[in-house]
Formats: sequence, structure tokens, C-alpha cells
Amino acid sequence: MHSPVNPSDLHSIPVQFVKGIGPKKSDLLEQAGIRTVEDLFLHVPRRYIDRTTVVSIARLREETLTGAQSSAPGGGDPHGEGVRREFTVIGEVRSFRVLGFGAKSRFLLVLADRTGSLQCVWFGGVQYWKTMFRIGETLAVSGEPGMYGAILQFVHPDIDRIASAAEGEHDQAATKWIDTLNTGGLVPMYPSGQELARAGLDSGGFRKVIAGAWKTYGNLFPEILPRAVTDARGLVSARAALQSVHWPASRTDLQEGLRRLKYEELFRFQIKLAMKRRTMREESGGIAFAVKSHLARRLADSLPFSLTRAQVRVVREISGDMASPGVMNRLLQGDVGSGKTVVALFAMLIAADNGYQAVFMAPTELLAEQHFRTLRRLLADIPVNIRLLVGAQKSALRRDLLEDIRGGTAQIIVGTHALFEKEVAFARLGFVVIDEQHRFGVMQRATLRSKGANPDVLVMTATPIPRTLSLTLYGDLDVSVIDELPRDRKPVTTVLKSDEDMAWVASFVREQVRDGRQAYFVYPLIEESEKLDLKAATVHYNRLQQEVFPDLRLGLIHGRLAGEERDAVMERFTRGEIDILVATTVIEVGIDVSNATVMVIENAERFGLSQLHQLRGRVGRGSDRSFCILVAKKWIAGRAGRAAARGTTLAADQQLLAERRLAAMVATTDGFSIAETDLRLRGPGDFFGTRQSGIPEFKIADILADAALLDAARADALAIVESDPHLGKSEHRSLLSYLRSRYHDEMKLIDVG
Ligand code: ADP
Ligand code: MG
Repeated sequence: MHSPVNPSDLHSIPVQFVKGIGPKKSDLLEQAGIRTVEDLFLHVPRRYIDRTTVVSIARLREETLTGAQSSAPGGGDPHGEGVRREFTVIGEVRSFRVLGFGAKSRFLLVLADRTGSLQCVWFGGVQYWKTMFRIGETLAVSGEPGMYGAILQFVHPDIDRIASAAEGEHDQAATKWIDTLNTGGLVPMYPSGQELARAGLDSGGFRKVIAGAWKTYGNLFPEILPRAVTDARGLVSARAALQSVHWPASRTDLQEGLRRLKYEELFRFQIKLAMKRRTMREESGGIAFAVKSHLARRLADSLPFSLTRAQVRVVREISGDMASPGVMNRLLQGDVGSGKTVVALFAMLIAADNGYQAVFMAPTELLAEQHFRTLRRLLADIPVNIRLLVGAQKSALRRDLLEDIRGGTAQIIVGTHALFEKEVAFARLGFVVIDEQHRFGVMQRATLRSKGANPDVLVMTATPIPRTLSLTLYGDLDVSVIDELPRDRKPVTTVLKSDEDMAWVASFVREQVRDGRQAYFVYPLIEESEKLDLKAATVHYNRLQQEVFPDLRLGLIHGRLAGEERDAVMERFTRGEIDILVATTVIEVGIDVSNATVMVIENAERFGLSQLHQLRGRVGRGSDRSFCILVAKKWIAGRAGRAAARGTTLAADQQLLAERRLAAMVATTDGFSIAETDLRLRGPGDFFGTRQSGIPEFKIADILADAALLDAARADALAIVESDPHLGKSEHRSLLSYLRSRYHDEMKLIDVG
């Protein structure tokens, strides 16, 4: 969907206006996310090659053999990431195939030039790679070469498509490139897919098209950064940066250009957040709660423990927000077990004391039930009406409940998405707690807020978000952090075992149970189908009960159990009437039974890192020493174990992410460090599993590597909005018109001036 074309705004000019781009190419470009001339300019090269890095395959073989000899064994960087010797080879795809099955499958591709051939290997993702290549096409392949026996190999190389098979002779294409290289300088390699390459938009095609577009439109690329910012940060102008990136004069020139474009990308995002934050703050009609609360006082007196300093600080931050008439939007971060729930409860009691209703929203029914039980227990002696609203309730009960919510006698309502439904109307909703935010889309937050008169919102997440990500994701929120665990906690001891060690695992668990403790056995969701999954869990349960622990009391819990049954099983586990709870990942978050001291995770290689961390967080919640036993396939367990023993989470030789995840789990219990590793392994796009998570996908910047630039961009954006909330100053004119052209409706950038 295009807004009308404005001839001076590159963001509104479709790529089809560029010479050489017809309807077909523009369709393909659009699919690749390049819709406008601006997008085209910001389609920056992934890599640059020059004469010094491009070699023939025969030369590469020599380099690899001699290079391997000269590097001293065991020397260098402990992470195995020493000085990388990157080379690029230009060759023709001769063949490719998949080898092996399942987790061990890999994709092999043979590339050849006049001097020889080599192999490229990818572990995993074979279905994807299978569709990526055509026999006969010409690729530039870059990476660090190695020898696999006598075979010259690139493992997970970077690929640039430089001529499609359809275009004809590989030799011609290669010669053309070698000629270009010989003219000296850095040659940009543009990202291009199979389809684009076949339509002529391979790396060389992009070079031509971008050069053409630059002639016509280059001088229209706006400078949105105020002079003060570019000066202070030492940034070159936007146009100079684009020129350096598409046609670099030198490596230094290129670095400067890239730095500016990265900054610009991050700044564009941060200024949007800063404006959004301003808008929310200016929103009138927030509630000014009286924060001296009788109920909160009573809670403090009745708690069986004293709050940690971090909890006290965060309660203060929240009540400070509540006291002010603005609308609170606060993110509460804290590792598993840091005690976020009780903090939220203080805030909800303040709301109740002021005659408002509070809701506490959890991502699953199991969790909602769990929280409800916990909160009700904490509120045992406190006169406040707390209720549970979930989807699967009997209609009579539900009718009563809805009545009480509408009438206002229900003061604290714990629930799931069911709270969003149309028929749920609140008498006086004043405070909203959203637990485990990453499972909720941003839109839902808006929906819920619309149910109250601008309630204050507290978003809680137990997935510790790396700071860089929380700045991008939640830059429009204020952030509180509980960075301290209750004093009596001991770190959970984590061990990695192979599936051949199950006898050891069983006897260890038995010992713990004999000492009066309880344990979990968790199985991954193996199948997409819940039915099959249920079957798998049931099979495991029967086997454990009948063959392994015939004398112990086992319980089974999974996503398909009806609410009441699930509740009954949890209740019995909580009361200690079940020794071992067998579960699928439904228990991932929030379950809180402090007498449980062993968490056994089977097929641990199948879990994501943050999931593993969450699961581990189910134990170590009391003062007893706790254990997490990761059980993995033998070959994975062995390699990950060795990596952990060396004190690294990135072994030099490993290809498999599973190994890295398990090694990270053994190496640390710190949630933030785990989250950083997770982000690094998965990449930000995947970090929260879905696109709708609202994480922007940066094309140029890398939020991990460019964290310092991100900080700078955020600080600058906040300072600009602080000093000039409506961007009325003349030095902000072009920034304002940039924002207007994109986000006019979204951000109420009114004040037409
Ligand atoms: P999370 O932050 O993971 O949601 P919870 O709020 O579930 O953590 O708290 C974990 C457990 O620790 C609960 O049993 C809770 O009652 C207990 N707890 C909370 N704060 C403290 C504290 N200051 N001292 C001791 N135990 C606490
Ligand atoms: Mg919690």
C-alpha cells in the first residue's frame, strides 16, 4: 500500500520509477521488502571483496594447508575465534545433496572453478538450503576454509549470488567479476535471492540499478539528523554515508559510512519510541492513586519473609508512578524466582484501596490458576476479593463472575486472554499487570487498556531480556529491574547427562525423594499435534511409574488436561502428595513449589535456551540445594560437556546450536548471561519466537554488536524530544517531516505548523 507519490520524498516513490526496474522486478523487489527508492538506497552490501581476498580454489587449497600447519595447536584465543582468515572464491555450482537424517542431517554443495573444486557444508536447515541453489549458477562464497580429510571445505560460508545459471556461461560471469576486481577497489556484494538473481538482480544487477537510481534521486535523500547530533557523534552526512557504502573509496571511508547508516537506522527507531513515550505521558486522565495503603501495609506485615532491597526499590518506583496522574507504563524485569509476583501484589492492593479493580494476566490457564492460588494464599488474612477468570469455567460460575466484575465487587481478577473478551466489562479498572509479556502481542496490551479509564500498566517478564533488546523492544516503557534473588537462594547445580546415564539419574532422584524432596521430569513437545504429544507424555509417565519408580507416587500433567484435573494434580504436588511430577512443557513458567529440588529435562537438546532456563527456575526456590539434570543424546552431551569443562560456551569445532545451549546452561545460572547467549545464537528475529513480537528487524545495524551506537541513538532521541517535545524548532524540521510522512496517525504528531 503506497501513500500518494510525493516527488520529494523517496519513501513515497515506488522502485518501479527507477530506470531498468519494470513491473516484474519491482514485484520481486517488493517481496524482498524493497518497495521504495529509499528502501533501494538502504539495501546495503553484505560484504565487499577485493583482489586481496578473492582467490582461486587451487590457491585456497595451498593457503589452507600451509595455514593449518603454521597455527600452533592449542594456542590463541580460548573461544576458538582467533584471527579469522577469510577468503572468497568465485565458482560454479556443480552439485548438491542432503546427507544423513534428522538432527544429524547436513547439506553439501560442490563448487568448482578452472583450478579445482571444494565443498560447502551446512548442518541443519537442509530443507531450506535445498531450495536455495541451481546447478550452474555462479556464486561468490566467503568464509574460513578448512580441510576435512583431503577435502577442501567451507563450513557455513556466506554466499553471494553473482550470476544465475539462466544467464549463461559461468566462465563469462566469473571473468566479468575478476575484471571488475582487477580495476581495483572494493566491490560491493548485495544480498539477492534466487528469484531476484534470475531476473537480473544478482549482486552485479543491484550495483547497476542502485547507481542509476542514485543519479536521479540521490540528492533527495534527506538529512534527518540535527546538526548538533552529527557533530557530537562525529557522523558523516546521510548522503555521504550512502555514497561510501555503495561506492567505497577505501575501507576507512566504508567504515565511516556504515557507522552513520547504522546510527541512522537505530535513531529512526528510537525517535519513534521517544515520541510514542511522550504521547503516552501527555495522555490525560491517568489515575493519581493515594499510595498510603492500609491493605499494602497489612500484606507487608503478614509476609513470611522480608522483601529484598531490590523488591523494596521496585515497589517504590511503581508506587511513585501510581501516585502521579500520568499513565504508568512500566516493565518489570527480574530473573526467575526473583519475586516479581509479590511486588505486583503490592501495587494491586494500592489500586484496591483506592476503589479500583486490578487485573493480573498470565499467558496460560495453568499459570493463571497457579498465580491465583499463590495470591490467594498471600491474601489469606487480608480483606480483598480476588477471583479467577479463565476460558474453561462452567457457565453459571462464569455468569456470577462477570456480574461481580461488572459490579465491582471483584477487586483483583486473575486470568488469561479470557480477560480480553468483549463480554468482560469492568466497573472501575485501574491497574493492569501483564505477566510474561513476551507472549502477548503489543496489540493486546492496547485492547486491555481500552477496558479501563487509562489504567496503569505493569508488564512483567521473567525472560531476562538483554539490555540492548529491552531498549529496542520496550524503549517506550520505563524499566524496573529486580537484580537480586532472595537471600536464602543457592544457585541450582546443573549437570549434563547422556541418555545412557538414566540409571544414575533415577537413583539420584530416588535419593532426593527419600530425603523428603520432590522432582520434575519434563519432556519436550515432540510433535506438532497435541494428541501425539499427549501420547508421548503418557507413555513416559507409564514407563517411569511402572518400571523405574514403582514405589513412588507419580503425577502427570500436560496441556490437554481439563482445568480442574490439572488443578487437582498441582494441588496434590504442592501438598507433597506426589513425589515426581511428569510434565510436558506446560509447567515452563511460574510453577512455584519450593520443596521440589530436582528438575530432570529429557531430550534437553530439543529445548530452546530460555525455555531451559525457565524450567530450571522451577527448582531452587527454597533454601534447599537444588539440581537440574539435563539429559541429552549421548553424542551431544559429550561434546557440550567438554565445551563447558573448558569454560567456553563456544567450542571451536562445534556446529550444533544444541551443544552451545547445553554448554551455556551448565556454565552459568545467570539469566542475563543466558539471554545474551540465546540472542547471539538465535539472532534477534527469532529471540521471541515470532515476528509479531514487535522486535524491529534491523537491516544494517546489529543490536548486539552495535550496542554502543544504540545507546547513543536512544540518548539523542530522548534528549531531542525532551528539549523540543513537538519538534517545532527549525533544526528539527526535517526530522519532523520525516516522522509525519510515516507515522502521522500512529503518533498523533498533530500540531500542523
Ligand atoms: P518470579 O519473579 O519468578 O515470578 P515469584 O514471584 O514466583 O518469582 O517468587 C518466587 C518465590 O519466592 C515465591 O515462592 C515467593 O513467595 C518467594 N519470595 C518472593 N520474595 C521473597 C523474598 N524477599 N524472600 C524470600 N522468598 C521470597
Ligand atoms: Mg512469575
